[in-house]
Amino acid sequence: MPDSPQTQKKIFDHLAKKIHLYQSDIVKDLSKLISIRTVNEGVKGDHVICHNKEKAFRFIQSLAKKMGLLVYPIPKRGMIVEWGQGQNIIDVPCHLDVVQAGRDWTVAPFRGTVKNSRVYGRGAVDNKGPCISAIYALFVLKEAGLKPKKTIRLIYCCDEESGIWVDMAVCLKKLQRSKFAIVQDSHFPVVNAEKGFLDVIVDVRDVSKKPKGHLQDLIECIHFSGGLRSNMVPDRAFACLKFRSPNTQEKPLLQKCIIFCRKQNVQINIHRKKSFFKKSFCKGPYDIVLEAIGKSAHGSLPHEGRNAVCVLAMFLDQLALKKSSRSSVVRFIAKCVKEEHYGQALGIAKRHPKMGRLTVNLGHVTDEAKGMKLFLNIRYPKGIAPPVILKKIKNKLGFRAKISKGRNSMEPIWVSPKNPYIRKLKQAFRLATGLTPYTATMAGTTYAKVFKKAAGFGPLLPSETGTAHMPDEYIPIKTLLRNTKALAAAYLKLGCE
Ligand SMILES: [Zn+2]
Repeated sequence: MPDSPQTQKKIFDHLAKKIHLYQSDIVKDLSKLISIRTVNEGVKGDHVICHNKEKAFRFIQSLAKKMGLLVYPIPKRGMIVEWGQGQNIIDVPCHLDVVQAGRDWTVAPFRGTVKNSRVYGRGAVDNKGPCISAIYALFVLKEAGLKPKKTIRLIYCCDEESGIWVDMAVCLKKLQRSKFAIVQDSHFPVVNAEKGFLDVIVDVRDVSKKPKGHLQDLIECIHFSGGLRSNMVPDRAFACLKFRSPNTQEKPLLQKCIIFCRKQNVQINIHRKKSFFKKSFCKGPYDIVLEAIGKSAHGSLPHEGRNAVCVLAMFLDQLALKKSSRSSVVRFIAKCVKEEHYGQALGIAKRHPKMGRLTVNLGHVTDEAKGMKLFLNIRYPKGIAPPVILKKIKNKLGFRAKISKGRNSMEPIWVSPKNPYIRKLKQAFRLATGLTPYTATMAGTTYAKVFKKAAGFGPLLPSETGTAHMPDEYIPIKTLLRNTKALAAAYLKLGCE
């Protein structure tokens, strides 16, 4: 028999009080964890490159030991912390790795500075704050002498930010299967669905071949590139152009550019200096470089940014370019990707009543001696499958290319709102925050995708500003404590009833 709501409220209040008593320890431990530089530098074969990951594991290990919790490593891959009993297991996967600090910080990114009732530093909210909350929530339950009916198992890994979860895969293979997983790398109240994640790579090989075309006064595009990675909206794109007769061609182009920018409300800078490309990734002699300025955003929310690659392609498509594979690529981007975010012109538009629309982000285009590569990041709901998406895109290309799926592709997940664990998480949310719970879909991708049944549960409310992956990342101490309480309520509901 589960406890009555009154008893449960009393137990929860006791736990919440304890959590507040531990506030300074929680903050101190988060600062310490932030100061361990666990920058994820990608995956090589079957291994993640993350210096200091062993140090971060040892930190969790010693913290768990101090708390009297069961702790053991999955050698070189992860650290496991457990409390409870029985074969029924609830997993709480957490990631200790972080993305690069990047520029524009006003505080040291790896110090865990406490300022304005916030803890600052890379990983404060994504995901080191939740890493600390998860273990303290377990500790207060254990200290309260509660009798668990299930086992709550925290899985700490260092491979999340690379998108290829080699360490989590090994951990899960070695561990007994759980019934459900709670992922605090999402948002509140309860995220019961995540869109699928698909990188489509278009590989064009023969771009350096001599361009065809008989009209001698055409403009030749000898380079086109932009963006940094597939899951970010590119804020820069470059094109190098060569004129047949600069005297007569340059002026009309500048005029066209001014009109285009005004109409589209964008910025395209024109550079004449031959030294513009310091790294000389464009070797050929060119007359001008066009630099489109966009606005960066997360790849799952392309409408929040302005795609510089698409803007530049749309402008170039208005010019009389000499025909080549490169000009075909530009045309494809201008006609089929455009500044659409939902894949209409690509023929892959899809909407799910609960999970929303498929989104497309052309995040990265490279142009090197070997050829050009386009990286499209697609987030798709249930109802459309990757092979169909690939085939439809291939049909739209209009040039010869190899099209393939990225290694980090993942299917969408969806757990029914009627699922008992989802219901209990909603109750836990109400218990911990006093707010009305509901279920939601997320466009992003979390560890939830590798579990049979899982849900996102925090760390932020939809109304709170997220600073993950940004300069001056922080978590308010209030939020950190609330999350610890929310997880304690979730452990109580899912593990002790
Ligand atoms: Zn994260």
